[in-house]
Amino acid sequence: MPQTTSTVHSKEVERPIFEQISGTEHEQISFCYDKDSGLKSIIAIHNTVLGPSLGGTRFWNYTDENQAVKDVLRLSRGMTYKAAITGLNLGGGKAVIIGDSRKDKSEMLFRRYGKFVNGLNGRYITAEDVGTGTRDMEYIALETKYVTGKPESMGGSGDPSPITAYTTFLGIKASAKEVWGKDNLEGKTVGVQGAGNVGENLIKLLLEAGAKIIVTDVYEDRLKEITKKYKVTVVGPEEIYDAKMDIYAPCALGATINDDTLNRLTCAIIAGSANNQLEDEHLHGKLLKEKGFLYAPDFLINAGGLINVYMEWVGYNKDRVLSAAEKVYDRTLEIFKVSHDENISTHAAALRLAEKRIHDVAKLKARL
Ligand code: NAD
Repeated sequence: MPQTTSTVHSKEVERPIFEQISGTEHEQISFCYDKDSGLKSIIAIHNTVLGPSLGGTRFWNYTDENQAVKDVLRLSRGMTYKAAITGLNLGGGKAVIIGDSRKDKSEMLFRRYGKFVNGLNGRYITAEDVGTGTRDMEYIALETKYVTGKPESMGGSGDPSPITAYTTFLGIKASAKEVWGKDNLEGKTVGVQGAGNVGENLIKLLLEAGAKIIVTDVYEDRLKEITKKYKVTVVGPEEIYDAKMDIYAPCALGATINDDTLNRLTCAIIAGSANNQLEDEHLHGKLLKEKGFLYAPDFLINAGGLINVYMEWVGYNKDRVLSAAEKVYDRTLEIFKVSHDENISTHAAALRLAEKRIHDVAKLKARL
């Protein structure tokens, strides 16, 4: 059964819940349970200085409930920085539903979840994430208006994955410019980990740009669909780290940049859509720099989806979405410059710019 992949390192998940929460500066964490539908969910609101918190709902079969807590805390914090660095007027929040997305979904479960979201009265707005899609948002929308990523047939912006793939692609191109002096990807080999919604759209863009693709997924049927449609080379989920590639694009779950994989990867660039790619953001952010990898911060280059659902929230306009998404290319180069000039990791550079915006807006709001 593939859904055992942990996004959280095992040594970190044994801490009591309130101990985990105490160091994170979250504003609010809600545990939502419904016996009838089997819903077990956690909604985490990290920071609402810039606006209401917005972040997707992840449906994942966590093997340990503490993993779910750890994941939602990390993911919601990441959303705060993602919105801040992208210039959106949104705070950071995220939710997880514990269960197998291939077996446990039902209308009642999502409607019940929608009621919980509604109870937060707009402090948290949801959307899709790993394991959820536009159809699920449709059910949630029956119970709350605080939901985005709804189907286009309902006046929503639809699946955010193509725009996420687009900003990820721009982040890869900016990284190529930084490393090789030009952003042409012709002939470069990219290892895409996770052939899901974003992974597939990214593969399409990369092939159009002349790149060669190595791909992996934990689901065989997914890989079959991909190889039917595209000219790609398939490797096993563990083999991807040892594959010969120029760029590693993590598009599955988080924490894949860790002590083990940093000793195995030989690529020049790490740039993908997965959230929270660094297992330990300080340690592995620094190690990436020391070992000579160029890392494009995940929360910046995967911001396309957030841009898309934000525009749905404020009034959708495709041109505005594309123009906001295109800024990711220059912003990525700006982060590389700060990292270089200040001799800090690219992750730290991105955090610094995001924190500065939150700090400046908080100061502004405090004034008459
Ligand atoms: P998805 O569920 O459609 O795809 C994820 C894929 O990764 C699945 O096919 C899954 O089987 C595969 N996978 C899981 N563990 C794996 C492993 N160990 N090795 C190889 N494959 C594995 O999700 P998605 O919407 O494509 O999102 C991918 C990543 O991008 C997630 O981390 C998500 O949080 C992030 N992200 C997505 C969006 C978006 O718009 N969808 C926006 C921002 C960030």
